[in-house]
Amino acid sequence: MILPITKEPNPLLHQVSKNLTAEEINSKETKEFLTNLVETMYAKDGVGIASVQVGNPIQLCVIAKDFTPDKKTDLVLINPTFTKASVLREWAEEGCLSVPNIYGSVRRYKKIKVSALNVKGEKIEFVATEFFARIIQHEIDHLNGILFIEKAKKLHTFEKEKI
Ligand code: ZN
Repeated sequence: MILPITKEPNPLLHQVSKNLTAEEINSKETKEFLTNLVETMYAKDGVGIASVQVGNPIQLCVIAKDFTPDKKTDLVLINPTFTKASVLREWAEEGCLSVPNIYGSVRRYKKIKVSALNVKGEKIEFVATEFFARIIQHEIDHLNGILFIEKAKKLHTFEKEKI
């Protein structure tokens, strides 16, 4: 089921999402919600999505498989956090399903160490770099109530007629 996207200025997008307990991670409700969240991400052409973007403020986000290193499975991160693995940062353009037709350049860490739980509730840790690292930082910002437009410079609207 495709879920409606929560859009700015909905206050949900500016609050910290709630951590999931082991019981909640393993619940039927969470599994059904995750199926719908992934379906919505693909229906809306998102490369990643956070639960709060469909009105559910829980610490769960997904990165589309094409944008993960293995390109085989959508990456589900529950209660995720990251630390920088390098001081290097870089500016690049971002957009967001919750802020339609607005784009801007955001400075993000190029290499991060991510700690999270997977769909089974098991602890996972890995290093992410480049665009993969950027998507994860964007999604974790969502889980902390932060939108990219709060960090971006040179916000602009997309001009469809330009090639
Ligand atoms: Zn977003």
